Amino acid sequence: MAGRIAHVARGVGYRVGNSFRGVRRWIRRGYRRWDNDVLITKPDPECPYTGHPEHGPDDQCFGHMVVTHWRRPLLRDMFRDPLRKLRLRTPVDRMTLDEVLRLRSPDGYRIRTPEQILRLRPVRRGRGHPVWEPKADPRFERARPWVYLAGLHEEYGVPLEVRALKHLGGRNAGVRRVEAAKRGAGRAGVKIRAWTI
Ligand SMILES: [Zn+2]
Repeated sequence: MAGRIAHVARGVGYRVGNSFRGVRRWIRRGYRRWDNDVLITKPDPECPYTGHPEHGPDDQCFGHMVVTHWRRPLLRDMFRDPLRKLRLRTPVDRMTLDEVLRLRSPDGYRIRTPEQILRLRPVRRGRGHPVWEPKADPRFERARPWVYLAGLHEEYGVPLEVRALKHLGGRNAGVRRVEAAKRGAGRAGVKIRAWTI
């Protein structure tokens, strides 16, 4: 089982596999790698996270990576906005980081950041690691988000693996995401395994 990448079964909400509980469950079941989906929030000129490493050297908000599958998590993954300000159809790329992080599902799930996943104790202890699956956002075709993610992996000492669906988001868009991930990791001086499926 060690070589296989865990993935939620059909019919199980993607929120489960992308959660703390989901990660702990994969590890308990003996998996060493599992699929975690990533999207990017809205580039927010009013972003409160001044100086966040994800902003890069120019401190401009490019958007923040979040671990979730559906572009419309309220519509597709049962997430609800406790402040009732977001619409059912609002996509992640039109939400700020704080808006995404406040979402809740009735069964108790939340959306996390990649750093929160990497900080989970069993992950830091080397019991397993996520294989990131970037979804269809053209920003993943740039090195920038990957430089940040690679830096996190270096900081937490966790192997960096990325896989992308080859034609999700356009013909060969997944190939471009993988190439960007390799460029970003190279720029950060971090080893990476990245491939399309
Ligand atoms: Zn920001």
